[in-house]
Amino acid sequence: MSSPRFLKVAVSVPLSHTFDYRPVAGAPAAPPGSRVLVPFGRKQQVGLVLDHAETTELAANKVRRSTRTLDADPLLAADDLWLIRFTSDYYHHPVGEVVATALPALLRQGKALHPTLQFVAVTDAGESADVETLARRAPRQAELLELLIDAGGNGIDEDALTEQLPTWRRAAKGLFEKGYAQRFEAVADAPEPHAPQPGEPGPELNDDQQRALAAIRAGEGFGVYLLDGVTGSGKTEVYLRLIRDVLDSGRQVLILVPEIGLTPQLVTRLTRRLGIAPAVMHSGLTDSARLAAWREARSGAARLVVGTRSAVFTPMADPGLVIIDEEHDHSFKQQEGLRYSARDLAIARGKRRDIPVVLGSATPTLEVLHHCRSGNFTRLELPERAGGARPPEFRLIDLTRAPASDGLSEPLLSAIGKHLDDGGQALIFLNRRGFAPTLICASCGHVAECERCDSRMTVHARDRALRCHHCGAERPLDEQCNACGSGVRPLGEGTERLEDALRDHFPGRRIERIDSDSMQRRGAIGAALELATEGSADILVGTQMLSKGHHFPKLTLVGVVNADQGLFGTDFRSAERMAQSIIQVAGRAGRESRQGEVMIQTAFPDNPFWTHLIEGGYAKIAADALAEREETRWPPFTWLALLRSAAHRQDDAHALLDAARQRIETLQTEHLRVLGPVDAPMARRAGRYRAQLLIQSSDRRRLHEVLSELRPALENDPAARRVRWSIDVDPIELF
Ligand code: ADP
Ligand code: ZN
Ligand code: ZN
Repeated sequence: MSSPRFLKVAVSVPLSHTFDYRPVAGAPAAPPGSRVLVPFGRKQQVGLVLDHAETTELAANKVRRSTRTLDADPLLAADDLWLIRFTSDYYHHPVGEVVATALPALLRQGKALHPTLQFVAVTDAGESADVETLARRAPRQAELLELLIDAGGNGIDEDALTEQLPTWRRAAKGLFEKGYAQRFEAVADAPEPHAPQPGEPGPELNDDQQRALAAIRAGEGFGVYLLDGVTGSGKTEVYLRLIRDVLDSGRQVLILVPEIGLTPQLVTRLTRRLGIAPAVMHSGLTDSARLAAWREARSGAARLVVGTRSAVFTPMADPGLVIIDEEHDHSFKQQEGLRYSARDLAIARGKRRDIPVVLGSATPTLEVLHHCRSGNFTRLELPERAGGARPPEFRLIDLTRAPASDGLSEPLLSAIGKHLDDGGQALIFLNRRGFAPTLICASCGHVAECERCDSRMTVHARDRALRCHHCGAERPLDEQCNACGSGVRPLGEGTERLEDALRDHFPGRRIERIDSDSMQRRGAIGAALELATEGSADILVGTQMLSKGHHFPKLTLVGVVNADQGLFGTDFRSAERMAQSIIQVAGRAGRESRQGEVMIQTAFPDNPFWTHLIEGGYAKIAADALAEREETRWPPFTWLALLRSAAHRQDDAHALLDAARQRIETLQTEHLRVLGPVDAPMARRAGRYRAQLLIQSSDRRRLHEVLSELRPALENDPAARRVRWSIDVDPIELF
């Protein structure tokens, strides 16, 4: 085969197109999927070859030569490149930035896929040395020498040595000087495939679980299955059986979860039951650990890959199944940069590979439910809790009759006391961290505001600080009103305030606050969840961190402090969201033999939302919301894209969107509705003015055609340089 004339290279810059280069002089052209070092402007950049070509749109003599090929074998296979292109096309996002999201940091920086390790090995002289004599003068050196003799000629790599003998470096110096040991560099061996073991047996599946399992097993090739199962219904048990099938057939499994740090229980359970440690991919890993997991997934050595959102891009040699646990969770959608949905990309990937995709949730999104209704996805219900646990009972507390002080009403307090006395545990849920959301002047009513955002500063009493939760601004807590000098007081409540009040009401009880403030220390979340699980924490108070998938055996009471936040939300998803968060947190109550109870404080007990939720459950709320969306033509019955802009001058932010709107109107606007530009719901944030333009269509293809025209126009618009702008396809937040 003759060498191609040009390489189409993706470089991490905010431009949609690829860049053309000539292959490295005198060497075979780097195949698609491999990295090359290329001159870019005055620098050298790492790029990924997407394709070969015989022609270029540039003047052929202008095309520069690539400097060096970085991978002997392509890093990415055809399917992985397909996913990158698909992501770039669907989200209208520069392909080089998609590549940057898909690759681990070390590979982005041009490091080798297989790291070179430093080894230490014994020499011939060391082998015949008298260890006993050495031990008398230098016991550490003797200890190390023995280790090295045992390891033989291949030696031990430095990381492994550090694990076995943390102080080896000093001892090694002595051995080097005596000529007993030497160091050398070598590429690490490819890891052995992990072999699944029998693992611990699980419970016998109940009828519903068996039906679901059989339905998925009966499918051939691609299919999307929704395991629509109430909290604690045994969805994970169904996953475990499916995973076992796929592992036994020699293929790999990808599991996407919202946040691994929050669900260490899942990884432990998988390991115990499948007898195999999953390769774990999440943002908390060191760069080299992340690369190692990526490498093992790619080679097929890792049979089970568990990861958060970005793990959807992990290359896999032979995947046989994709599972997305807690499908409804918002963390699957990236909200900045490349605004992709890992769930939707996982489905696209499953389709391309012709393998099943299983989604699980107690509160599925309306998008997924709609696909089930229209027959694209298969819905499998697990309507009852497994293992004999009953569903929790719901009760409303009318705040207009039973007023709350520090956020807690009398009925809720007495319920907490009763559950604790009965040996239970209580979870108090409020999705607002800090002490109070507002600091107000008692005499003139002045409110402490963020100087850079249209928002109030949150009072953080522990740190005596005011913080803006939107831009991160921070200043010392005001002692007096900035306007009139009178005394100020915190208004409303956050988790810190609840914690203080609970300590006053329940002295001697162990109270754990779990939110992103209290859990900043490394390992803090694991320790807190441990206390909660073993039951030594009596009261848990926290944000939605507490609502995710946890199983706290002793927990019997869930109190929802402020349920009204979502009742009158402006976003068309408000009801869906609020129902999801309440059902999820309620699902922590009574998961074992004792009956669970959920108490919801509301100032609007007559709102029909509550009767629907309590009597009909999430299914009723979802059915109502779907009917309403169909009527009002919102997703999933139409398709949306949101064009956002932010600039130091309000006019600039609006002008860009005005121009975009005009451009759309010159195209054919049939089946298209354009709303705006308008100020974003928070018009100023972090010192920038923000505006948005909503593009809606009943025809998905038409919407994407328009975006395809819009993107390059925006990239080339000089006015766009003063503005930060982005395209959000299928936005889940309209602000
Ligand atoms: P989910 O994933 O739906 O929250 P899990 O699979 O974690 O549910 O199951 C909830 C609890 O019920 C777990 O303690 C689990 O061991 C138990 N369980 C699940 N299925 C069964 C079953 N068929 N028989 C007995 N216990 C079960
Ligand atoms: Zn004042
Ligand atoms: Zn701010």
